[in-house]
Amino acid sequence: MAEKTKGEQLREELLMKRRNLTEVLSEDELAKAQQFCEGYKTFLDNAKIEREAVTYSLGLLKAANYTEFDPKGSYKPGDKVYVNNRGKAIIACTIGRKPVSEGVRIGVSHIDSPRLDLKPCPLFEEGEQAFFRTHYYGGIKKYQWTTIPLALHGVVARRDGSTLTVSIGEDESDPVFCVNDLLPHLAQDQMKKPMSQGIEGEKLCLLIGSAMLRDDKGEERVKIAIAKLLFEKYNIREEDFLSAELCAVPAFKARDLGLDRSMIGAYGHDDRVCAYPILMAEIDEKSPEYTTVTIFADKEEIGSDGPTGMNSFFLKDFIEDLAQQQGCEVRHVLAKSHCFSADVNAAYDPMYAEVSERRNCSYINYGVVVTKYTGHGGKSSTNDATAEMMAFTRRIMDEGGVHWQTGELGRVDQGGGGTVAKYVSQHNVDTVDLGVPVLSMHAPFEVVAKTDVYMTYLAMRAFYR
Ligand code: MN
Ligand code: MN
Repeated sequence: MAEKTKGEQLREELLMKRRNLTEVLSEDELAKAQQFCEGYKTFLDNAKIEREAVTYSLGLLKAANYTEFDPKGSYKPGDKVYVNNRGKAIIACTIGRKPVSEGVRIGVSHIDSPRLDLKPCPLFEEGEQAFFRTHYYGGIKKYQWTTIPLALHGVVARRDGSTLTVSIGEDESDPVFCVNDLLPHLAQDQMKKPMSQGIEGEKLCLLIGSAMLRDDKGEERVKIAIAKLLFEKYNIREEDFLSAELCAVPAFKARDLGLDRSMIGAYGHDDRVCAYPILMAEIDEKSPEYTTVTIFADKEEIGSDGPTGMNSFFLKDFIEDLAQQQGCEVRHVLAKSHCFSADVNAAYDPMYAEVSERRNCSYINYGVVVTKYTGHGGKSSTNDATAEMMAFTRRIMDEGGVHWQTGELGRVDQGGGGTVAKYVSQHNVDTVDLGVPVLSMHAPFEVVAKTDVYMTYLAMRAFYR
């Protein structure tokens, strides 16, 4: 073999190398990634809204011997506990070999995704068709939510305290719903509008029926027929919608994408594609050095407010309970803790290359993406991880044999966004964003690469070990 030139040697020693994982990983690793993603797809199909993500995760946690956390209890290394926050957010924790006074390792992701929520008074009839009025939840491009099959998920809390869990449209034999759009033949006015105005928010109404109540002379006979059906089938009256959380979400299941099956197309990758890997890493770690604290948060897509969002104190309160059990102060625990805020980033899309900066964006199949900062404009409204936190992250990744990359959320001044990172770091916790690159983020059908999902799991494994 010819000897390497000086230039080749220097490049090898001094420059960064990033390679596509479908080429780099061994057959064995690729098979493991495939297998990991089978579990992930099942998670996706069973967890389309935050409540379902909590219920499904609780099942996995209990099967792995997690018990409900007792603030007055005392725990030893290796003990596994959980806290269920209102069925909409959850904390899972494994007690570490070191005391919490030396800090804990926090992994956070969110389990809510953009969707159409029913309004409190949703039911109406127009033109002998019955509809549910919706208010969209999270950042959506409204036109993407028309003319696709939608399922209805959520709960109705009745006055008597009983709760009805709703899931209609997932079983092959279930009916589905949709938001209609104008035919192109008559859309000349609509098509002239900017895309952001082509579909108005108030027109995102869910078509739910068209059959009239027979042998009746009254008004709105389709609406009353639907009301009759809702009462007979589910024992709910119109008033019960006042105390309900019902969400219209895409009715399709997670599918392998591409002839090579290297990707997954599904609703809600943001952020279940990080939630599932961090949950698996939490469950699989039996004897961590530092106590692990894994959180699934709600409300990220609308700003993290409310008791189940990361702007609430439920994480800090939990760590305070741990601190008290071990006879130390929560603020001292937090100051020594580290957090991986596991959320997605925008993957480079060759069809829309103009919004990315090629040297600093993330790519599918290049592994878990570490995002130093998100925000918009001049790094406004974000957690900008310290150089030391980035160095800590590099060490974890490299020592764990994790393939990773860095990513910015788009070109400078192209737009922006945020994650829960700033709501953890506000408690004086060193935090960085890390997760899976996603194509078509926030669309009803988002795309990720399987190798990246698996690398996110390995990254969290390395962090928790
Ligand atoms: Mn997200
Ligand atoms: Mn999002």
